[in-house]
Amino acid sequence: MAKIIDGKVISAQIRKEVKHEAETLAARGIRACLAVVQVGDDPASSVYVRNKHRACAACGIKSLEFHLSGNSSQEELLSKIRALNAQEDVDGILVQLPLPKQIDTDRIMSAIDPAKDVDGFLPENLGRLVIGQEGFLPCTPAGILELLKRSRISVDGKDCLVLGRSNIVGKPVALLMLREHATVTIAHSHTANLSELMRRADIIIAAVGRADFVKSTDVKEGAVVIDVGINRMEDGSLHGDVDFADVFDRVSAITPVPGGVGPMTIAMLMKNCIRAACARRN
Ligand code: NDP
Repeated sequence: MAKIIDGKVISAQIRKEVKHEAETLAARGIRACLAVVQVGDDPASSVYVRNKHRACAACGIKSLEFHLSGNSSQEELLSKIRALNAQEDVDGILVQLPLPKQIDTDRIMSAIDPAKDVDGFLPENLGRLVIGQEGFLPCTPAGILELLKRSRISVDGKDCLVLGRSNIVGKPVALLMLREHATVTIAHSHTANLSELMRRADIIIAAVGRADFVKSTDVKEGAVVIDVGINRMEDGSLHGDVDFADVFDRVSAITPVPGGVGPMTIAMLMKNCIRAACARRN
């Protein structure tokens, strides 16, 4: 029977560790601080932003909220970012995506000071990952690695297939698995022999954004499956990219959706905030 990798339990452990680190910093008079910038009133973004503030409060990290109108200009947002870059007591800056159409997202993101890039999205930090230097890791890929490590699943020497090549999940998680000595294949919508690649893999990390895409006939007996997908169904339920019930008896370990990778993302954001505070103020 498969082991269920419980992201709720593991993320709670990480948040506890973060809280302890925040208290240690506070004892030295340093309060780690995250600035969250939201532009407009996208309901999903508002939920994500609220969750981030709540997580900060629970971990003893100060959070600042900046809510700009959906009509804001690029220049207004840029000047807010520049002000936050200059603000000494702000350790991390997070711009909630997506941004309204009139704003050039790449331009805004690249204005963030890399030392405050707690999302790990900037070319400076992704480039560091590519060349094996320390930097901020993007939160979801870092969370996947923590899930594997804390479940004592070794990646070294394993055949790892990453489904998806986005800049926030697929590419960075592939680089992380490579750093951990897996033999990595990245598949995408143009991949010709996908079924064959899936059946060969010891570890499948699915980040395609298609509900129940991976079936039991696709996976090798005993494979480890990490499901990043979050797909809202018509009945309101959440499904991953993996058909959980179908593959369950075939795999050795699997993350559920919800309750697998999802809770790890915010936990790793909190961890990055503490890291930023330590690096900037030590
Ligand atoms: P993107 O839409 O940016 O990327 C999807 C990737 O899947 C693309 O590389 C695409 O290929 C590939 N793909 C799509 N269809 C197929 C197919 N039929 N066969 C093979 N590859 C395919 O998504 P994200 O990476 O942003 O997110 C992926 C999923 O993870 C989503 O469900 C998202 O909601 C979820 N997510 C969850 C997070 C969490 O905290 N748990 C955080 C971030 C995302 P191509 O490049 O060729 O188009």
